Formats: sequence, structure tokens, C-alpha cells
Amino acid sequence: MMSYQKFFNPEESYSRSEIEALQLERLQATVKHCMDSPFYQERFRKAGLSPSDIRTLDDLRKIPFTTKQDLRDTYPFGMAAVPLDQCVRLHSSSGTTGNPTVILHTQKDLEEWANAVARCLWMVGCRPEDVFQNTSGYGMFTGGLGFQYGAEKVGMLTVPAAAGNTLRQLKFFTDFGTTVVHAIPSYAARIYEVMCEKGIDPRRDTRLRTLVIGAEPHSEDTRKRIENMLGVKAYNSFGMSEMCGPGVAFECPEQNGMHIWEDYYIVEIVDPDTLEPVPDGEVGELVLTTLKREAMPLLRYRTRDLTRILPGECPCGRHHIRLDRMKGRSDDMIILKGVNIFPIQIETILMQFQELASDYLITLETVDGNDAMTVDVEMKDLFIDDYSKLQALSREITRQLRDEILITPRVRLVPKNTLPKSEGKAVRVVDTRKKY
Ligand code: AMP
Ligand code: ZN
Repeated sequence: MMSYQKFFNPEESYSRSEIEALQLERLQATVKHCMDSPFYQERFRKAGLSPSDIRTLDDLRKIPFTTKQDLRDTYPFGMAAVPLDQCVRLHSSSGTTGNPTVILHTQKDLEEWANAVARCLWMVGCRPEDVFQNTSGYGMFTGGLGFQYGAEKVGMLTVPAAAGNTLRQLKFFTDFGTTVVHAIPSYAARIYEVMCEKGIDPRRDTRLRTLVIGAEPHSEDTRKRIENMLGVKAYNSFGMSEMCGPGVAFECPEQNGMHIWEDYYIVEIVDPDTLEPVPDGEVGELVLTTLKREAMPLLRYRTRDLTRILPGECPCGRHHIRLDRMKGRSDDMIILKGVNIFPIQIETILMQFQELASDYLITLETVDGNDAMTVDVEMKDLFIDDYSKLQALSREITRQLRDEILITPRVRLVPKNTLPKSEGKAVRVVDTRKKY
């Protein structure tokens, strides 16, 4: 086995004071560069601000927030801070309402993105000897090309298998000796199901060792399940198209929160209602400012993702702060009978039951004029024909859910593979309630 350096690049091991000095330098440069974007020029003019007003990192708070609506309103190219002939790629996300959003990249943006993803993969032990298989859709979804270029930068042999066709994925695992896989959590569980159906034992029949899971909220129990199923270590990966894609924050081998790369981003956590910073360690909305982007820098972008900064130092020796597992997006919050509920609270309870498989669906309906919730959850094979055990199990699940979310859902235990499967991010909530 060759010996390699621990850190992928010097900034990864910077001390707090080095990180902050670099952040200020890059923030000032970014703000100046933003004046080449008609959108930010106008924003600064309206706020009576000039780039020279940003003298310290705290001065960031003088700058107005940027929102997803701003991206929609300026669709497609209204936020560009460079001429279009310097851009070499765009990624677009199709929102469910209104215009989609577009993020433009220069060649240098793409190189920086690949570096960030490579740093993440290197951090969890990926090395040129590894074989990396990517089960993300390629194309507009950034998990495809984002991981592709990052994995190539590490020097791994890459298998751009793309989404779906699980049997083919399994054949690639065995034929090419895949050691590292990137998959969304719901798909990782699906891979295991198909392995079981085909009599493949991941420990005996594959060389899988590392799994990168991200792109959708998942609980610690889901992670542990997936690790046990596939015999791998699974690392949480966080990103979003607006911040390039993957490579924003990633777990280190300690698996205790995701280091967010502060040489690329300034992190704020704000109360989504008052927009004031929350006290240290409390949950709020993640707000990010890009520090290295050429084509489309974003200042104080409201991500809608809810998380908190984990207190304390990480034993791994990196000083970039750690974000807790995402609690969900503020727009994912379910309001049922006036109670605020996040789907991840329900998942956390469900995944503690060994009898349950990984797929579940929350349906919200209006029944006799009242809000009602049904939770359908797939069973593993166990107990399926023992009616009294099934009833007892469903009562216990209902009780624990009621304790957690303060309302009583209807729980239905359904056979394996009966809930709809999606090739992209899993759909966990269907809301059929009448809107008034
Ligand atoms: P997209 O821009 O389509 O890639 O979606 C980005 C969004 O996916 C983020 O804003 C988060 O809401 C969600 N997301 C990405 N990674 C994670 C993760 N590791 N855990 C929870 N949610 C995630
Ligand atoms: Zn660490």
C-alpha cells in the first residue's frame, strides 16, 4: 500500500485564524467582483452599500440576503458576474413552481468544484487504487458530473454507471471490483434489496468498502442500517446546485458531523423568521456566501436547509466547522393540525424498528374536514403472516410516533416493494389536503 499525504490541500488543515484571514480576503474580492453582476450592483445601490464598506467578516451582515426567488427572477443569466463567453457549463434545477434556476460555471469554477469534491473523497480514504462507481443521474443533476470530476481528480478508476438499472450496477460492482459507491440513501437500500434477491453477499462477493450518501435527509439509524447491510462505512455528503453541487460539506472519518469548507463558503445560521443569527449551536436556516466563484457568486444565500453548527473541535484535526445532519428544508415542514413536523422525525422513529424496511410514505389528507396523516411503511419479510404480531407492532409504532410528533397518525404496514420507488431523490410526503 502506498503512503499518501493526509490532507488533500493546505487550506484543509488551516487553523481558525488562518481560515478567517483567508475568508476576509476572499469576501472582499467576491463583493468587489459582484459589482460586475447587474443584479448585485442594483442590490448594493438600493441598500446604500459599497464594497469598501466590507472591512471585517462581521460586515457581511450589512449585505441583503439572496433568495431562490432572486435566482428565479433573474432566470436565466441575470446574475452572471462574467460575460457568457467565459462560461463553459450551466446546471439547472427544475423547481416545482415558476421558473427553474440556473447556475453558471467558468472553467475555473469547475476546477475548484472538482477540487472540493476530491478533498471530500480523499478525506474519507479514497485513493488512486480505488474504483469509484457513481449511481447518480448525470446531466443537470449535479451529483453526476460533480462526483465524476472529483473522483477523477483523486485519480480513482471511475465507473460512471449513472442512475437506475440495479442489476447492471451489481454486475459492475463484481466485474470492475468497485470499492467506493456514491448513492442517495434510498437507492443504497434498494441496491441491497436487489443483492438479496440475487443471492449476492456484499461482504463475500464484492470489494465495497466506502459509501458516499447524500442529497436527501436521512437519520443516523438509516446510515447505520445501510452500513450493516452493505458492510461499508457510509459518509454523509451535503451540497446543492446553487453552491455547485456536492463538495460543500462532508463527514470525516470520525462521522460526527459534516465539515463545511470554509475556504469556499462563509456559513451563517439564522432564524428563518427574524433572519437574525441564532445562538451558537442552535438549529436555524443555513445561509452561505460563496468565496471562490467567478461566474455566479452568491452573497448570503438562504438555502432553506435547517441545521446547526456542532460545538467543539473535531478529533480529526480539521478546524473547518461541522454541520449537524440536515433536519430538512424549511419548505419540507409539514403543518398538521397546527403542529410543525419534519419528515425526518418520522423516519428516525421508523428506522429504529428492525422489522421495518427502509421505504415509507407519509400521506396528508383532509378527512371529514380535518387534517389526517397516514404513514405507510414497508416491512422486511419477518412476521408478515402473523396478524397479532403485526397489530402489536403497528400499535407500538403509532405510540412512538405520537410521542414524537404529538399527533396520532394512521400506520399501515405494507409488504416489501409495494411503495412507489423513484430513481432520483425519494418522495416521502404526499399532501392531498384541500388548500383554501
Ligand atoms: P439539489 O440542488 O437538487 O442538488 O438539492 C439540494 C438540496 O438537497 C439541499 O438544499 C438539501 O435540501 C438536500 N440535501 C443535499 N444533501 C443532503 C444531505 N446530505 N442531507 C440532507 N439533505 C441534503
Ligand atoms: Zn473531522
